[in-house]
Amino acid sequence: MSKPILVLNCGSSSIKYQMIDAESEELLAKGLVQRIATGTTGTIDHEVLSNNQGEYHVDQELPDHETALAKVFDLFREHGPNLDETVAVAHRTVHGGDKFAAPTLIDNEVVKTLRELSPLAPLHNPPGIAGIQAARKLLPNIPHVGIFDTAFFVNLPAEAYTYAMDVGTASQTKIRKYGFHGTSHQYVSQQAAKLLGRDDLKQIVCHLGNGASMSAVDSGHPIETSMGLTPLPGLVMGTRTGDIDPGIIGYLHRELGWTAAEIDTELNKRSGMLGLTGHTDMRDVQSAIDAGDKRARLGMDVYVHRLVFYIGGYAALLGGLDAITFTAGVGENSSEVRAEVCERLGVFGVQLDEQANSIRSKEPRVISTPESKVKVLVIPTNEELAMARQSVELLASS
Ligand code: AMP
Repeated sequence: MSKPILVLNCGSSSIKYQMIDAESEELLAKGLVQRIATGTTGTIDHEVLSNNQGEYHVDQELPDHETALAKVFDLFREHGPNLDETVAVAHRTVHGGDKFAAPTLIDNEVVKTLRELSPLAPLHNPPGIAGIQAARKLLPNIPHVGIFDTAFFVNLPAEAYTYAMDVGTASQTKIRKYGFHGTSHQYVSQQAAKLLGRDDLKQIVCHLGNGASMSAVDSGHPIETSMGLTPLPGLVMGTRTGDIDPGIIGYLHRELGWTAAEIDTELNKRSGMLGLTGHTDMRDVQSAIDAGDKRARLGMDVYVHRLVFYIGGYAALLGGLDAITFTAGVGENSSEVRAEVCERLGVFGVQLDEQANSIRSKEPRVISTPESKVKVLVIPTNEELAMARQSVELLASS
């Protein structure tokens, strides 16, 4: 029997959605809504991938998430797949604070808690809540499940999630390392264990997309991750700094008179590969390097240096290393980044198979030589499928 799950990811002006049959794991439909509440004409692209395949485009004023979702549901009713067969809606929720360690059935109490957590993720949680409330109103008779980007990391060891600052201030303000991309790190680390046929792996997952984060996972349990209270620290990203000296924040304020909001924008939106090279997309960075651009070369050197630095630290924390997995846009596609990182990991006995590394594929695969002491893997992430699976598991157990 089919079990269609509607997976929703609501941003401030966009909604990404997929309809996945959790039984066959088939992608039935997907779509993207853009320019919600921007005062300009909104757009919806709806693609039906199951029976009666087709692509549909709508331009319309979309003043809020409810209007946008109502229009999306009209498209489902008009072109399919059948919305009435949907068994649940899975909502991607960025920040679950320390309250949500697992997928959770959403009720009014959960929404209230999410609102209380909004100061921790002011850009992400409010649109997520708007999407949840709109979907609950429009589809009131099916369960809605919250899947939290932070959940996988709630049980990090205390020495990993605690910042070295006054404990009273930290506890009053809920400051701790939360970590993000948890659904991806969990899914990919499970796939790696499956591919290598071992559940006692000491492994490192490098989620390298536009946002980028790393996790160290020991026998299925995360022990460290590179993002923190916010998704800003850690690795170099498309537009985010990753780690910097925290003293830079006060310094920018004093030297340039920038406000907290201006500094936030600088560090989140104008830094990372964009700030270093002028490009956010790793394909453009690579083309610039190939054309002899020294600024792009330095940007890549900083990017790789940070990755190697983290992998070394995580290997020590794990007390050994069996596997390193690359995932997300850059990790899955850039053989150059993977090669540059692995070249620097000979100290751990990493040997990349150049031929295997250069093959383009959507399949999970090993790209290290048979002699390599540490297996190097590429595993495409699939957060939506993971969310659909987790929702079905929750419904089966409740
Ligand atoms: P994600 O956030 O996982 O969707 O990743 C998006 C990023 O992946 C883009 O900004 C690019 O930097 C990177 N990317 C996508 N395709 C490629 C490719 N073929 N080679 C290198 N980088 C890629």
